[in-house]
Amino acid sequence: MILASERVVVHTGAGISTAAGIPDFRSPNGVWTLERKGLKPTMNVSFNEAIPTKTHMALKALVESGHVKYIFSISAMSCNYADGLSPYENKGVLGVPERFEDEEAIKEKCEQLAKMILASERVVVHTGAGISTAAGIPDFRSPNGVWTLERKGLKPTMNVSFNEAIPTKTHMALKALVESGHVKYIVSQNIDGLHLRSGLQRQFLAELHGNMYVEQCNKCHRQFVRNTPAPTVGQKETGGICKGAANSRPCRGGRLIDTILDWEDGLPEKDLDISYMESTLADLNICLGTTLQIVPSGNLPIKNKKQGGKVVICNLQPTKHDKKADLIISTYVDDIMVRVLKKLGLELPEYSPESDPTTFEPQFMPDWTISSDQVKNLEKIYNAKVKERREMNKKKRPNDKSDEVDEKKTVFDEI
Ligand SMILES: [Zn+2]
Repeated sequence: MILASERVVVHTGAGISTAAGIPDFRSPNGVWTLERKGLKPTMNVSFNEAIPTKTHMALKALVESGHVKYIFSISAMSCNYADGLSPYENKGVLGVPERFEDEEAIKEKCEQLAKMILASERVVVHTGAGISTAAGIPDFRSPNGVWTLERKGLKPTMNVSFNEAIPTKTHMALKALVESGHVKYIVSQNIDGLHLRSGLQRQFLAELHGNMYVEQCNKCHRQFVRNTPAPTVGQKETGGICKGAANSRPCRGGRLIDTILDWEDGLPEKDLDISYMESTLADLNICLGTTLQIVPSGNLPIKNKKQGGKVVICNLQPTKHDKKADLIISTYVDDIMVRVLKKLGLELPEYSPESDPTTFEPQFMPDWTISSDQVKNLEKIYNAKVKERREMNKKKRPNDKSDEVDEKKTVFDEI
């Protein structure tokens, strides 16, 4: 059959790696089968120890000899991430038609956005799946999104593996905006790892729903960059062992888990704390490619409104907070970002594998942990601001408590 075929595509799953000592998921001794019995697989090497099996090597030979055209590794498909999540009904408003403004309006609004960026001191950008569709990764709620199609029993036709995708113009523009000091912080709901792969540093990025390329120790909670997408979702063991930090005590026996949240999982604390404070302190929150339907992430951009901050929404579909926006731009985000960058006199950098930590040799496992100092330092600024505003309000209206800035702790209950 192979000889008689012109285009042979091979689809591989966990079963081709069991011979290398990596457990599969659903066989009688698979990870999830045993999990139900409260057990763990006895066969379990670290990913570093495992070497490619005869099947992997045979596939290489088949590709190189031209017998096989392409190999799809199931665990790395972007659409497969959605399949890995638990069933969930409340997926929000799906499939609302997209809107496109005319050239004149786009030009004018992008100029306005560039001016707003220049006039602001703390700019925070919020990103969603819409900034990665140009990389071939499907979004969730657009007319061709994963959840919209799921309702019709369909799957997106556009679907690259996470490995194949590279950062878009928007990812690269955001890196340039952060490095030039125009943008203070980026809050992302995306798990595709493209911000990380653009070369953006951890101190400027919150990943509220996790990252395919990041795993975390279940004991010391340090995070490390992987050079392939994690084989699991929902914070399950990926098979690796924590090596601890380079300059401190080693971590004894910590196991690595993926960082991808399932529907009901709590958000990562440090990422959420910083995002909350940065979004509230921001005089300008810019939303790119998100319908702002998921809470708490979708409510963060409007946290600055009480303090007189501005909100800009760049999205093809209407969003949950359009009414609160000071400016709405409806066209492709890449187009918007390229124009804004030009207006600010900045070059659009190209994606470079050398600054992509996922291309580093596996033994490096770059650290991706948010430092506790970063959270503490920001807390000082945030609390000072809260106090300052409260005193100002007291002077203005001694008996009116209605517009007091909320304490951070209490506001968490609200979002
Ligand atoms: Zn550890």
